[in-house]
Amino acid sequence: MTHVVIVGAGPAGLAAAEHALAAGADVTVLDQADAPGGQFHRGAAHRFEALLSRCAWWPESTVWAVEGRRVHVLRGPADGTHRRRRTLEPDALVLATGAHDRVLPFPGWQLPGVFTAGAAQALAKGERVAVGRRVLVAGAGPFLLPVAESLVDVGAEVLGVLEANPARTVLQGWSWHAAAHVGKMTELVRHAGTLARHRVPYRMGRAVIEARGDDRVREAVTARVRADWSVVPGTERTYAIDALCVGHGFVPQPELAVAAGCALDGGFVRVGDDQRTSVAGVFAAGELTGIGGSVAAAAEGAVAGWAAAGRTPGRALLERRDHARAFARRLAAAHPIGAAWPGWLREDTIVCRCEETSYGDLKTAAADPAAPGPHALKLGTRAGLGPCQGRMCGLAVADLCGGAERHHRPIAQPIRLGELAEPKELP
Ligand SMILES: Cc1cc2nc3c(=O)[nH]c(=O)nc-3n(C[C@H](O)[C@H](O)[C@H](O)COP(=O)(O)OP(=O)(O)OC[C@H]3O[C@@H](n4cnc5c(N)ncnc54)[C@H](O)[C@@H]3O)c2cc1C
Repeated sequence: MTHVVIVGAGPAGLAAAEHALAAGADVTVLDQADAPGGQFHRGAAHRFEALLSRCAWWPESTVWAVEGRRVHVLRGPADGTHRRRRTLEPDALVLATGAHDRVLPFPGWQLPGVFTAGAAQALAKGERVAVGRRVLVAGAGPFLLPVAESLVDVGAEVLGVLEANPARTVLQGWSWHAAAHVGKMTELVRHAGTLARHRVPYRMGRAVIEARGDDRVREAVTARVRADWSVVPGTERTYAIDALCVGHGFVPQPELAVAAGCALDGGFVRVGDDQRTSVAGVFAAGELTGIGGSVAAAAEGAVAGWAAAGRTPGRALLERRDHARAFARRLAAAHPIGAAWPGWLREDTIVCRCEETSYGDLKTAAADPAAPGPHALKLGTRAGLGPCQGRMCGLAVADLCGGAERHHRPIAQPIRLGELAEPKELP
């Protein structure tokens, strides 16, 4: 029987598991979280009990390295002291490790009380905790709406949802093509309805350009921005807040795929028609291969699971995946990142929060002829070398200084020296 290992139990990984099982494979699913569901189905683990009872299900299992199809796993809570090291060598590997929020830097974004939209939603959905009492949600993308909805749901007063792109760009993107994606439109209308009932305004063409406060965020300065996100002078407005949630789209997490040797296209894992990567026996699905929401992730996962089990995906599966991908392309067109966002920055604006590298430091280093290239820039300023390893600032640094974001991290997740030195794998 073909043994398929699936890394990531979000919509993509779970759909891959379901289809690999249906195709007759022996399936192991692992996730670093303690419950299945990923970002979208957070708090809905019970829905997957029946599916996972037919697999080997490894929660709290972090894949810290991949070599080809060999998967190195640490089992146990990430903050625990007794994690067990295990290695798996499946016939096929499906990578479905998703994406994380992208946040563009702006003055004050490092203040306590400024959250990524994803973190705010995770706390609201997973723990029923509101990140603040008076909250502003800002950035770009349709995902700001469900974030605001979940905040309202746990009792926060949401002062507004600000989409930086102008109405023309957003509405063009969502126009008649969206009609072909009725499910998604219904979802959007439902979110909009909830926000309207709670009198939460949705404003397009407006961005947060500064967060202010001493020990924590107290105010957000917003401004009208043009289509390229340059600020229209004189349009600034200040909100008194105690929390700010920002998200400017998503960044894929391709470290494991890169470690496995998979080729990338523009930061996403390159896949063929059946979600096969450039490495034999390794498949990828979901946000790793393109940002498109949970439906697209699940549709790709279904194809990947079927193909990983050694079966040729049927037309219906492929069509469903292609339809969902077309929607993802529309989404990207409706919510682009404006090229003029660096205009929000000041010399002292922190860009790499781990290493406290400022915009001024980066500009000086990038202009230094004695240290050309992204590698020298990184070593000279330490941007991207802190604990998050550039996950937060990598794209911003690449945008500001030129060059591509680097994903090659042979050790994809933190591992203690003691765990690494453990001579033999524990059962
Ligand atoms: C704030 C926010 C709001 C959203 N709202 C919506 C919405 O309303 N509608 C919609 O359609 N989509 C929404 N999305 C997008 C949706 O969550 C994603 O499209 C979907 O979850 C992608 O599925 P995935 O399986 O590719 O990745 P994910 O759901 O992110 O799952 C990836 C899984 O991989 C695991 N993982 C990662 N690395 C490792 C590792 N090294 N070892 C072990 N496990 C690992 C993670 O723990 C995670 O469980 C939202 C996303 C965010 C962040």
